[in-house]
Amino acid sequence: MQDFLQQTLSGEAPRKRRGETAHLRWQWLYHGILLMEPVVPVKQALVLSAGIHGNETAPVEIMNQLVNALLRGEKPLQQRMLVILGNPSALRTGKRYVRYDINRLFGGRWQQVDDGDEARRVLRLEQALENFWLLGECDETRWHLDMHTAIRGSYHPQFGVMPQNDRPWPPAFLDWLAAAGLEALVFHRAPGGTFTHFSCEHFGAASCTLELGKALPFGENDLSQFSAAQQALAALLFGDPMPATRVKPRHYRVAQQITRLSEHFRLHMTPETLNFTAFPQGTLLAEDGDTRYYVQQAREYVLFPNPGVAAGLRAGLMLIEEGEQTQALPL
Ligand SMILES: [Zn+2]
Repeated sequence: MQDFLQQTLSGEAPRKRRGETAHLRWQWLYHGILLMEPVVPVKQALVLSAGIHGNETAPVEIMNQLVNALLRGEKPLQQRMLVILGNPSALRTGKRYVRYDINRLFGGRWQQVDDGDEARRVLRLEQALENFWLLGECDETRWHLDMHTAIRGSYHPQFGVMPQNDRPWPPAFLDWLAAAGLEALVFHRAPGGTFTHFSCEHFGAASCTLELGKALPFGENDLSQFSAAQQALAALLFGDPMPATRVKPRHYRVAQQITRLSEHFRLHMTPETLNFTAFPQGTLLAEDGDTRYYVQQAREYVLFPNPGVAAGLRAGLMLIEEGEQTQALPL
């Protein structure tokens, strides 16, 4: 196999489904799912995924460059690694998704939507992760990095979203995220249907959804803005030197979710509203019939505002910054 991305976009299985270099053995497991194992045993297991959303191409290109270098035998591998291109049918059409946003369907939520390519893809990915983790030694370090780009511009161009996790986050994982250039980390406080929630909740993996910039079509990405993330990945995969951490990420946690309930939903933000825009207490954020969403804390920051989602789904998250005053201010 010459090129993992082209192979996946072709929709064909490769003629040769397994192979090896001086450093590693690889095995094509299914469309967009590739297992790579170092010849020398290691104690780290990494799931590296991109293309869960088909229009988020920069991370797909970055991941593909790293994987192709490994397939050509140019680089050693420091991780037992499962490489995933999440939604091949959406990647082929250049759309976020075909019928369903698969990053809402993990943890068995695919059973609640109509059977089809995307529901089956989520089941396939869940099984691939399960097989991958079960294959390893029980004392392996488990990390999952799921790479995305955001629909909107952002006050923090690069940030990470962490699933709900009752265990402490491993310091080495947080250090890696900082070195990858993430300026902010957002901590969920409730379960969700994302890929990273699934690997954290079911397999105890340290996982993060990396938002690495703004979504653009294939070939139009200026990959230089991703250099810190690229270097940090090269450090993790190949053992290259880690880039120096430029900024310590700010920590936010989710205060409330804005949910679209019906066709009457109205979000009081513009298409230009940036991620992490701050709103003062009392601001009316959205309304849906008799339901109104207000800023409850002294100050809240919006993340992923998207009034166009289907009824019942998240139309935005409101965040508070850790360490900032979280109680209501006296009137
Ligand atoms: Zn995405």
